[in-house]
Amino acid sequence: MTGTILILGGTAEAVALARTLSSDPGRRVISSLAGRTATPRLPPGESRVGGFGGETGLTDYLRHEAITAVVDATHPFASRMGWNAARACAALGLPLLRLDRPAWMAGPMDYWTPVTAWREAIDLLRCTSKRVFLAVGRQELAAFAGLDDVWFLLRFAENAKPEPPPARFTLIADRGPFTLEGERALLRMHTIDTIVCRNSGGAAARAKLEAASALGLPVIMLERPLRPETACAGSAEDAAAWVRGI
Ligand code: NAP
Repeated sequence: MTGTILILGGTAEAVALARTLSSDPGRRVISSLAGRTATPRLPPGESRVGGFGGETGLTDYLRHEAITAVVDATHPFASRMGWNAARACAALGLPLLRLDRPAWMAGPMDYWTPVTAWREAIDLLRCTSKRVFLAVGRQELAAFAGLDDVWFLLRFAENAKPEPPPARFTLIADRGPFTLEGERALLRMHTIDTIVCRNSGGAAARAKLEAASALGLPVIMLERPLRPETACAGSAEDAAAWVRGI
């Protein structure tokens, strides 16, 4: 028996890790999902859905399932789960790894303004922007509700109503994959003057930043939230090697 691994998921990297580890003989792999998606893509191995009930609930769960190590592979902007995992693992003396896709880095041709909170982005937009590609999730829209003089381009994976809707916007439904050429055409067609996004990292959403760079457009980039100090891997392969080495 090589132990029971809990993967805190909700990302493509978590699915990839579950796929790799579930082929290890004698290893039990449990993937945990928060339950935000109605029809989630369930990873190979066992899975469970829903919150644990905070740090205490997670500690109880780890004990009850005799978990031997935890991999926090939640989204870079899902920070609460990581802190709960760090405290619960510390209390039980369990090894914890953070699997985090590398953050995007600005290149010499990029014109990015990093912000640590949406209110900083909003102050900037008020002064500088009229036509903004707001490349953020639906749950972030409320922060931008008061910007009545700015027109927003919104893009969601599904054709769902923005809630609350900005005063002036156009909504497109598209889940990609997005290409440099496609993104450049989109930014031109809508005469975008600023892009606002979070530093989620990964290849899938990178094309809009390359297009911004090609067109010399400014990007307001929300930096990632603080995370607890833990061992860290940047890919599912590196995370699998860590698990196999403990
Ligand atoms: P969060 O702020 O870190 O977590 C909020 C609460 O949701 C946690 O305290 C926990 O509830 C529960 N939770 C989160 N991840 C869980 C998991 N993998 N398994 C079981 N419970 C979990 O996270 P969030 O921003 O709400 O995101 C929720 C989930 O969506 C995460 O799994 C994340 O990977 C995924 N996701 C998030 C984003 C994003 O932008 N935030 C984007 C893509 C995917 P209890 O305290 O009750 O345990």
